[in-house]
Amino acid sequence: MAAPRPLPRLDDTNRAFWTGGAEQELRLMHCRDCDAFIHPPRPVCRNCLSENVAPRTVAGTGVVDTFTVNYQKWHPAMEVPFVIARVAVDGAPGVYLTTNIVGCPVEAVDIGDRVRVVFERQDDVYLPLFEKID
Ligand SMILES: [Zn+2]
Repeated sequence: MAAPRPLPRLDDTNRAFWTGGAEQELRLMHCRDCDAFIHPPRPVCRNCLSENVAPRTVAGTGVVDTFTVNYQKWHPAMEVPFVIARVAVDGAPGVYLTTNIVGCPVEAVDIGDRVRVVFERQDDVYLPLFEKID
């Protein structure tokens, strides 16, 4: 299976993002005043400085904006090669998640591919990874 990853330290601001996978939901911080999404999660809107922010569940689909393939085995337990991608999240303009594309050979990934979130649980964190939509 996948190698253990360094995990984020959960706090009141980022918990919804990192644990939404328990309900199979991708949750992004959203500003109720100006309708902007805020990622990485912050307690203040970077667009309008409002503190009226709360997590909002998005569809969990997106598009591969760009990607690279890692062949370097940075850790003995790391399985290579793997894809590091920047995914533009549907319904959340301006939000790009740096993530992995899983469930297919690295050669099968291309810019513009439609993807959907899949969660990889480690301890109490659900890492949002993505797989291709056929
Ligand atoms: Zn705002």
